[in-house]
Amino acid sequence: MSCNRKAFAVRAAGAAALLAFLHFVSVPAEPRYPLCAYHWLTGRPCPLCGLTRGIFALAKGRLHEAEHFNALSPLGFAMLFSLFWSRQGHALAWTRLWAAGIAAFALYGALRVAVV
Ligand SMILES: [Zn+2]
Repeated sequence: MSCNRKAFAVRAAGAAALLAFLHFVSVPAEPRYPLCAYHWLTGRPCPLCGLTRGIFALAKGRLHEAEHFNALSPLGFAMLFSLFWSRQGHALAWTRLWAAGIAAFALYGALRVAVV
């Protein structure tokens, strides 16, 4: 097995293991203990509030539930799983995904703080 094939197999196995974990493990809809210091201090959601619950919901195929937790959950899901893709030959697409994702989360956070 060539080095590239081994690396691909390791990344694919990692992505599959993460997807299985997200699918078979459930997190409560309302966290028992607040983990977000910003939300705890201000009572307002930060750009990332609900993202973990949204990603778990997406792995179970529950898009509406994921969007309820955090509207950018699908983007966060894509960004998370992009970590398993090789950047070799795809560096520009990977960089664009992450740059656009970070910009989207910043804008979403500004809207959440201003509107919600
Ligand atoms: Zn938060």
